[in-house]
Amino acid sequence: MTSEVYFATARAPHWDYSASQTAGLERLVEKMEFGKAIEEGEYVAIKIHFGSQGAHRIIRPRFLRILADAVKAVGGKPFVCDTVRIQGWDYLEVANENGINPQSMGCPVILADGLFGCDSISVKAGPVLKEVAVASAIHDVPAMIVASHCKGHIASGFGGAIKNLAMGGAAGRHRSGDWKKARGHLHAAEAASSVIRDPKKCVMCLQCLRVCPTEAISEKDGGLVVDDKKCWRCGRCERVCPKDAIHLKKRGEDEFQMALAEGTQAVLSTFAPGKVLYFNFALEVQPECDCMPMADTPLVQDQGILASRDVVAVEQATLDLINGATPLADSLAADRGLKKGDRILADALGVDGEVHVAAAAQLGLGSRKYKLILV
Ligand code: SF4
Ligand code: SF4
Repeated sequence: MTSEVYFATARAPHWDYSASQTAGLERLVEKMEFGKAIEEGEYVAIKIHFGSQGAHRIIRPRFLRILADAVKAVGGKPFVCDTVRIQGWDYLEVANENGINPQSMGCPVILADGLFGCDSISVKAGPVLKEVAVASAIHDVPAMIVASHCKGHIASGFGGAIKNLAMGGAAGRHRSGDWKKARGHLHAAEAASSVIRDPKKCVMCLQCLRVCPTEAISEKDGGLVVDDKKCWRCGRCERVCPKDAIHLKKRGEDEFQMALAEGTQAVLSTFAPGKVLYFNFALEVQPECDCMPMADTPLVQDQGILASRDVVAVEQATLDLINGATPLADSLAADRGLKKGDRILADALGVDGEVHVAAAAQLGLGSRKYKLILV
């Protein structure tokens, strides 16, 4: 099966509104025929990533507003959402600081797993995850627009729609306090151990403590302690440590990548066919996830926006565009000595994101064969 992927390029070859990225997104919206996916009066989730205090390269509010208005134009009731990553109240503040609020969106901005991140419904999943705690507002909503900022990711190699659904569609916490029953379940597929800190290397910069989403790290007697019961193995502490002083033992890349595909399958199983549309923003393709406390310079030039009804096809097309681009100077890709023709994301990050796209195709979530249609 060959799926259609529509593409609005970031290039603006002539001086006219029609050449803008905004106009390109409007053309994509027309192609996606929202009226076929959304019934009059239906609630529609617009699933995004709110970013973090230092990660400013998220999807621009202007683009999200176009999606929200397009839902309203066909009689739908949109709400923009993400799931809890830090404390819920603080995460809504982050969204607001990044320009995502009810005024800019023209609709509610909510945490799909509730203010405390533990509103979820358990859904059956594949052999790696077995079950996923799907955020309740995503579980219960009949239609969804998945708007994904596409970039690298230290653990999955690529962060697009699949990662947005698998990690971002699962609740951050679980009412029982057991992190293995919420998003941490996916992280457990990545890391086999609890956090190990080497006090000889640690310089007590406290960066790990600041980025920990569960407040598992605290100061004690001039050192640090990690509460294993609170830690959900997300690996953020390991990523930010400047001294290589904190570690988790990895299980292996493939298990985590399969977990992403299974997580996506579980979230999508709560929707009827044809009720989920995908918009991938291959703009400001930075090396890391939007949950990190910073955003590095992009690896490649802005590519544009892609839209499809097929999650696998839109991911494959996005990866192919990024990997086919010329690496930018003063970027991680340049630091790694990459040149056009190299597989930019996989070679820059050392993890091949195409593995989870292939796994999603294997699970029957879509087709890696696509036809790219310029709009
Ligand atoms: S892996 Fe590190 S940052 Fe993540 S929850 Fe555990 S202690 Fe916190
Ligand atoms: S980030 Fe590393 S060096 Fe800094 S306090 Fe944590 S373990 Fe120590």
